[in-house]
Amino acid sequence: MIHKKVVIIGGGISGVKAAIDLYQAGITDTIIVESRDRLGGRLWTINSEKTRGLKFDMGASWFHDTLNNPLFERAIKSKIVKYHFDDGKCQYVSQDDGDVPSWKFQTIVDEMMSYFKLAYDKDPSKPDVSLKRLCEEYMHKYKDRLTEEQKQYALGVIRALAELYHGETWDTLSGKYCFANMNQHVGRRAFVENGYYNVFQTVLKELPREYLNHNVKLNAHVDKIDYSNPSKVIVHLFDGRSYSCDYLICTIPQSILQITDPKDSCYLKWEPTLPPPLQKVLPDIHFGSLGKLVFEFNECFWPEDVERFYAITNTTSKPDLLGDLSFNAWDFPSVIVNYQALMRLPSLVILTQNPLSKYIERLAKEDKQQDIWKLFKPVLEQASLVPKGHQIPDPVAIYNSPWNGEYLTRGSYGTTPVGMNDPYKINQILNQGFQNRIRFAGAETMNGSANGCAHGGWFSGEREARFIIESEKKAKL
Ligand SMILES: Cc1cc2nc3c(=O)[nH]c(=O)nc-3n(C[C@H](O)[C@H](O)[C@H](O)COP(=O)(O)OP(=O)(O)OC[C@H]3O[C@@H](n4cnc5c(N)ncnc54)[C@H](O)[C@@H]3O)c2cc1C
Repeated sequence: MIHKKVVIIGGGISGVKAAIDLYQAGITDTIIVESRDRLGGRLWTINSEKTRGLKFDMGASWFHDTLNNPLFERAIKSKIVKYHFDDGKCQYVSQDDGDVPSWKFQTIVDEMMSYFKLAYDKDPSKPDVSLKRLCEEYMHKYKDRLTEEQKQYALGVIRALAELYHGETWDTLSGKYCFANMNQHVGRRAFVENGYYNVFQTVLKELPREYLNHNVKLNAHVDKIDYSNPSKVIVHLFDGRSYSCDYLICTIPQSILQITDPKDSCYLKWEPTLPPPLQKVLPDIHFGSLGKLVFEFNECFWPEDVERFYAITNTTSKPDLLGDLSFNAWDFPSVIVNYQALMRLPSLVILTQNPLSKYIERLAKEDKQQDIWKLFKPVLEQASLVPKGHQIPDPVAIYNSPWNGEYLTRGSYGTTPVGMNDPYKINQILNQGFQNRIRFAGAETMNGSANGCAHGGWFSGEREARFIIESEKKAKL
């Protein structure tokens, strides 16, 4: 059995960053074991099937927190990453009324955000309720101060902001926590124009080619971790290989770590079982179901200068996607990113949420493109401001993200369902690891606005590498 100082499970941004920092500190005897046949994890860029050179991100596509985002700083320095602060023109489109100017709802949306925060700041013992309930509470309390139009648009906008951030609907999101991270972002947001793949390349470059060739194992699925021996941890792979190590950094998403069914292909056996505090907090971590849909057209038929469209639904209840086949994408809010405005390319990327994102992933392959188009055409007809009765052209290609059904991810990134425990307390336990040799990294192990983000993954890898570097220094004293 090959022995390594550190085994890193997972070759996403968290695992790679941990390997870089260890390497740069002189701890070169490490290995990354990655289940997929590629590195990057949830950083995944696909090529257009129709337009040469055009790329779409199925996972991350923005740098958040640009005042505190090392990935962004690197990207600027690299000169190979093209980015754009997409805080330009937005258009809000309502199902009934078309274009809605923001003065009709913005002050109410701001006031509602303040209300949500105040409600829990004033009474920390107030039970968590869903965002929908909290909105209803506000509307009920202040109904005499609001016009019908303000109520309708503000609710629609709040839904769009929350649901397309988390990938979950407002009736399932925590009123207490769902805007907490969002409101802590530091700095603007920048869109990656030429694929997050390029961002990841700038990071990978920090590992020598030799390391990448010999110390990164792809198609290496870990199915058992044995820490019964106090002097080494043994990491077993599905294919029978195994590695022993002094330290283990596990970056497997918590959505996978929490699987308890031994029949599940991603079940990870711990020997002995995980310490009780970890067993207790793991089920408390939830992944949302953000979905991405790319619509590639031959030409642009929508406003060229609008960077984002927010489609504001006027429904407040959720259709039954299995029983009621008359629904379409107007039954949910959506956000539409305009590649024409950002990059002069006639494509639109639509963000969508559970249950629609899961429904779309499960559509039969043969009819998928046609079925997706049927769902979203009514929204694009309205957003494109094409006069009523005029036809819009069909897309030349449609692509959809796979994350919910993806067996190594099972969702998009961390979210805050109603009733969840305090995310800070959950991370406190995770961040302690155990036995001073088994450590957890990953975007969801971060607190605050980096949680669930690519730079959160980066920070978590940095944190765990630092822990090992410090431990080694102490051991040598
Ligand atoms: C649709 C979507 C949109 C997003 N948008 C943004 C955005 O705009 N901006 C942003 O900053 N972030 C965004 N994110 C989040 C960002 O992509 C992630 O936070 C980040 O990539 C997570 O990195 P990670 O290394 O922590 O986890 P991952 O990338 O999930 O890496 C974990 C790795 O572990 C591997 N693995 C799992 N199980 C095993 C096993 N048993 N054995 C071996 N290997 C295993 C996986 O294959 C994977 O490669 C988005 C994510 C999604 C899905």
